[in-house]
Amino acid sequence: MTASARHVSIIEVGPRDGLQSEPEILPTPVKIEFIRRAIDAGLRRLEVTSFVHPKRVPQMADAEEVIRGLPQRDDVTYIGLVLNRKGFERAQATGIHEIGMAVVASDTYNQRNQGVPTAESVKAWLDIAKAAKAAGIRANVMISSAFGCPYEGEVPLSRVLALVDQVMEGDPVELGLADSIGVGVPDQVTEMIEAVRARAPGVPIRCHFHNTRNTGLANAQAAVAAGVASLDASIGGIGGCPFAPAATGNIPTDDLLYMLDRSGVVTGVSLPKIIETSQWLQAQLGRGTPALLPKAGIFPQVAEQFRAAAAS
Ligand code: MG
Repeated sequence: MTASARHVSIIEVGPRDGLQSEPEILPTPVKIEFIRRAIDAGLRRLEVTSFVHPKRVPQMADAEEVIRGLPQRDDVTYIGLVLNRKGFERAQATGIHEIGMAVVASDTYNQRNQGVPTAESVKAWLDIAKAAKAAGIRANVMISSAFGCPYEGEVPLSRVLALVDQVMEGDPVELGLADSIGVGVPDQVTEMIEAVRARAPGVPIRCHFHNTRNTGLANAQAAVAAGVASLDASIGGIGGCPFAPAATGNIPTDDLLYMLDRSGVVTGVSLPKIIETSQWLQAQLGRGTPALLPKAGIFPQVAEQFRAAAAS
């Protein structure tokens, strides 16, 4: 396989998974500006909000307003996260292009996150997938905490594969595997992707990594090597709540893009523009973010005194 033949689509999840875990609530126009800048940098699929109860996630209470304010472009797909039928109906009313639904691989976490056991969320997904298809809305599904659960610990691969069988009945446009709490390691990523692909051949696979234990980028690299279609990332690596030491953000779009660019993986996204947006975002949040590229800069330029030597 030649490096130049590889393409990966980066799904920007900063406006949703990032901002929903930050303590600040950014004003709606700032969120819209964030999304506009991400599009300008070349991102074409963006998870822009979630349609969940505003009491549970006050950061996303302006979902409808955000969607209303977004630029309409044929080449951009906006994704809204939904966790139940009510959320889907709200999303549908906005005219959103795509919805994403999550089912958690462990019952305890599904219960805490969504208020019902996993089987109920699977049922809801199948119902939503059918309604979405009828309405001409793309629908993807993500298996959350597939690499480990904060309450139940190890999640057996057999459990993930059984869930794959169940959610595939909804014919998703994409099947996601999420390491929601950042416990996965590269070999586990490789093994899971190979097993999932054998179980559900043909469906594009998306991976969602968090950098909680500093394995996020290594996991992303393993996923690329295993041939995933898309990777979630958040500009600046936002999503880590500074008041909860165990909560850490998504893998930074900035750092992921550096790795992919230098590896010859084509994404269509401009790293200088991502860094610019990352710095802009820091100013909006009033503090630093976890991404390293905005601090280190892109690959060093040849210093003046070495230029002649390099040219000869
Ligand atoms: Mg997440």
